[in-house]
Amino acid sequence: MDLSYLNSRWDDAYADSLDPVERLIYRSNLLGADWRITNTGGGNTSAKLVEKDPITGEDVLVMWVKGSGGDLRTAKKKNFASLYQQRLLDLQSVYAAMPERGVKTPAEDVMVGMYAHCTFNLNPCAPSIDTPLHSFIPYAHVDHTHPAPIIALATAADGPALTKEIFGDKVIWVDWQRPGFELGLLMQNVVKENPQAVGILMGGHGLINWANDDKACYLLSLDLIRQAAEYLSKKDQGSNVFGGAKYQSLDSAKRDEILVDILPYIRGKVSQEKRFIGTVDHNDALMTFVNSADAPRLAELGTSCPDHFLRTKIKPLYVDWNPQTEDVANLKAKLDAGLEAYKKDYAAYYEAHKHPNSPAMRVSYPSVVLIPGIGLIAWGKTKSESRVTAEFYNAAIWVMRGAESVSGYTAISRQEAFDIEYWLLEEAKLKRMPAEQEMARKIVVVVGAGSGIGKDTVERLIKDGATVAALDLDTTAAKATADEVMKRIGMGIGVAGSGISGSGDIIGLGCDMTNRASIREALSQVVLAYGGIDGIAVTAGIFISPDVKGNFDDAGWAKSFAVNTTGPYLVAHEASRIWKAQNLSGSLVITTSVNAVVAKKGSFAYDVSKAATNHLIRELAIELAPHVRVNGVAPATVVEGSSMFPRDRVMASLAKYKIAFDESEDTESLRSRLAQFYASRTLTGAPIRPADQSEAIYLFLSERLSRTTGQIVQVDGGLVEAFLR
Ligand SMILES: [Zn+2]
Repeated sequence: MDLSYLNSRWDDAYADSLDPVERLIYRSNLLGADWRITNTGGGNTSAKLVEKDPITGEDVLVMWVKGSGGDLRTAKKKNFASLYQQRLLDLQSVYAAMPERGVKTPAEDVMVGMYAHCTFNLNPCAPSIDTPLHSFIPYAHVDHTHPAPIIALATAADGPALTKEIFGDKVIWVDWQRPGFELGLLMQNVVKENPQAVGILMGGHGLINWANDDKACYLLSLDLIRQAAEYLSKKDQGSNVFGGAKYQSLDSAKRDEILVDILPYIRGKVSQEKRFIGTVDHNDALMTFVNSADAPRLAELGTSCPDHFLRTKIKPLYVDWNPQTEDVANLKAKLDAGLEAYKKDYAAYYEAHKHPNSPAMRVSYPSVVLIPGIGLIAWGKTKSESRVTAEFYNAAIWVMRGAESVSGYTAISRQEAFDIEYWLLEEAKLKRMPAEQEMARKIVVVVGAGSGIGKDTVERLIKDGATVAALDLDTTAAKATADEVMKRIGMGIGVAGSGISGSGDIIGLGCDMTNRASIREALSQVVLAYGGIDGIAVTAGIFISPDVKGNFDDAGWAKSFAVNTTGPYLVAHEASRIWKAQNLSGSLVITTSVNAVVAKKGSFAYDVSKAATNHLIRELAIELAPHVRVNGVAPATVVEGSSMFPRDRVMASLAKYKIAFDESEDTESLRSRLAQFYASRTLTGAPIRPADQSEAIYLFLSERLSRTTGQIVQVDGGLVEAFLR
């Protein structure tokens, strides 16, 4: 087993150039860099440092601890809280004076509200829920991580004995207990009673270790995880793990064909209350589990580490389907039955464990679906959330593999799980989250995204939180649009070292709109990347000019129709299968042109093809009702940034309108000259920009015009001759 992820990455020269708080951040980033050491957003670190008090000017001990909701890998100074250490210790007498104390009592939650009173230097960062244990362990540096090899021991049936066997009296076992003030007090006691100890293994949860030197603390974390990993690796059962293989993985072509078929179907089912974005995973270690004899039993037990099950939910949906003998129809029937049973189980779990003041039941669909032969499908409110959910279940599989190899895997009790999932503090955290963006949870495909209106539409959608597939005939241009956006918004959370393949919130793909197979392939890739499709904007079009003598050949006529009319039809027709399977509302927006209703010299093929497209919009609105709305946006000559206005055409148009220009002028300046001329013919007198078009397209893609279908809106600055009637 490759344990190189446990090699030290500490750089003395670099660390020595940092101040003490920066060294804490450095240590945290190193620990967070690999998902097997700690999961995305999981674990926390602290350092007790001497600082100058801003009022007295005296030296005081201040504890810096990771903030609530932060992520170790990406944490910066702003993600760390700073608290007076003495004040934190003083909280113990405040707590002791409370009439009713104990694990999970309201007194524990009251203490969380007290941390703010300990704030040093007005630091606004809210401290981690694990603040008490960091403060009460009397060492300068404390690391708390969720390492897969340690959680394997923490969930093994004989975890306490194994801990003794591996670590002797250096690491002390503590039974599962929900994080909070009581856990901090408990840890304080353990350290007092075991002065030789360097760490605590928290049942069902993870690892805590400490030292008075920061580098020593980091190395200790790695060393303890390595001891656990080496022990487990000696006991690993290889191909016999999980009771051996029951099924074989399907080959990748067959697997993807089935996924393209079932992903929109499952997405529709799990998205009845709120939409979800998907991530598919089928790495070898995962498939060993999913195809195994023991997978149904272990999946049913659920995950253990609280961080894990908050995302993976209490258990995944394992679909008992035989990839070698059963067909897709059987798979769908089993998915249906499985989802129904899951919903009932979840409601029963909620009813059996709820308290009088528990928050209302949350979405009762699985966030992880396991299918033998195919792999794992994770669902989240964004792409990166679903990728992290996949990461967590992969970690849970390593945990189960380790625990099953040494004894047996045990999950946290359902009541304890419930008390974490529906903890009022968790609910408060959820409520504190910023409101979701307008296009959050929506997957939108933009065809023609390499330039002009399409590229601008991508920007407009991303700005409001959509997940986007940028398609263009020019694959390089499509990828460039996606890369540009990615550079700006980043990959989101949970990527480094997670081993989870997949994209960020945007992908760029090539697509020839005149070729049905090419469209099908591109839409299939979108489904594999995100799980389905909600909206499509077709902005691609072609304008073919007559030659210099005014001649226009048949090929130009055919091509104009192939791109401008047949293209949107083929896209709609191919997408309709996905929309039908998904059974959710959708929106198709097709860019047409004011030329569709204004006859002009020199553009008849373009104009006639756009007139046909106007009617295509109305026909499609009828065909795709009631779920999918179909509308059109009709621009008038957007010159700025348009690939339909190459230098030649701009110069030809300027000549046609007898506008003076200098052949040495650059293309943008020639374009702006032409745009000004077009603007002068409109009621508003303003040049039409790609942003004006993308705003109209955005409106149709959003829910704001959810009662409008079969319509065309002109975005032309006010061209009287293009008024619809
Ligand atoms: Zn933890």
